[in-house]
Amino acid sequence: MYPFHYLRPTSIPEAQQQILLDSEAKFIAGGMTLLPAMKHRLANPSHLIDIGHLPELDCIEKRDAYLVIGAGTKHMTVARDPLVKSNIAGLAELAILIGDPQVRARGTLGGSLANNDPSADYPAAALALNANIVTDQRTIAVKDFFQGLYTTCLKEGELMKEVQFQIPLQSTYVKLKQAASGYALAGVFVAQYGSNEFNVAVTGVGNGVFRWTDAENALSKNKAIPVLNHDQLMEDIHASGKYRAHMTKVLLEKALTQLTR
Ligand SMILES: Cc1cc2nc3c(=O)[nH]c(=O)nc-3n(C[C@H](O)[C@H](O)[C@H](O)COP(=O)(O)OP(=O)(O)OC[C@H]3O[C@@H](n4cnc5c(N)ncnc54)[C@H](O)[C@@H]3O)c2cc1C
Repeated sequence: MYPFHYLRPTSIPEAQQQILLDSEAKFIAGGMTLLPAMKHRLANPSHLIDIGHLPELDCIEKRDAYLVIGAGTKHMTVARDPLVKSNIAGLAELAILIGDPQVRARGTLGGSLANNDPSADYPAAALALNANIVTDQRTIAVKDFFQGLYTTCLKEGELMKEVQFQIPLQSTYVKLKQAASGYALAGVFVAQYGSNEFNVAVTGVGNGVFRWTDAENALSKNKAIPVLNHDQLMEDIHASGKYRAHMTKVLLEKALTQLTR
């Protein structure tokens, strides 16, 4: 690990000042992604601005048609929260499937979205639930947020404050875990907004999360679920593109059995 300065602001305004100290300063929340990257010398921040304990970033509340979750909210909190369970059950189901108890106790919603790992779980929920990502500078519609492998539209020093998830009629999340890490080999989030209106978001199989519009169209017309074109899917030591395509269809079928239809 390279040397760095550690700062622990007590408020958002203080964090916003500290991030300006150096162009290589970085926010750290749970540290579940950033610290391993630093240990492997893949990241070299000059300053770590620790926002993991700020109460303003740790909230869960219902606002009109949205469930609003603070960016600093830990995975375990989301998994256990009664408001999440009663309004967006799929989010609680997703959070309990992330990593292991240690990761769920430290990792945060904002850190997961900012990192945009192609096999991470929360990006699928954000996309299927028509989320708005609120930062200290603007509100970003989720369709504009993810920009490919480990990339988002967040600017240097931009602080994610909360995520607004549009409450669906019902929702669910299923994933096939990569055995060693727990990350998704394939993961499917389904959110239903009308009698025949389903949002289906897929993670783990490509260069980044995406809406599976062919499946959404099939569901809206009560037609058979298609199979993804495996030529465009990820191939690695864990699974072929063909296997991922097959399993994505299986997972969607399983997800539909978990919804009331
Ligand atoms: C063993 C292991 C297993 C895991 N398994 C899974 C899994 O199954 N599924 C899954 O989805 N994830 C998994 N993860 C990742 C985990 O979910 C992390 O919590 C997440 O990727 C990053 O969250 P964090 O709070 O730890 O972020 P950090 O590591 O602190 O930060 C990550 C990045 O986000 C930025 N950031 C953090 N918060 C903000 C903010 N509020 N505003 C702007 N930028 C911010 C940081 O600057 C940094 O660039 C796993 C991790 C480990 C170590």
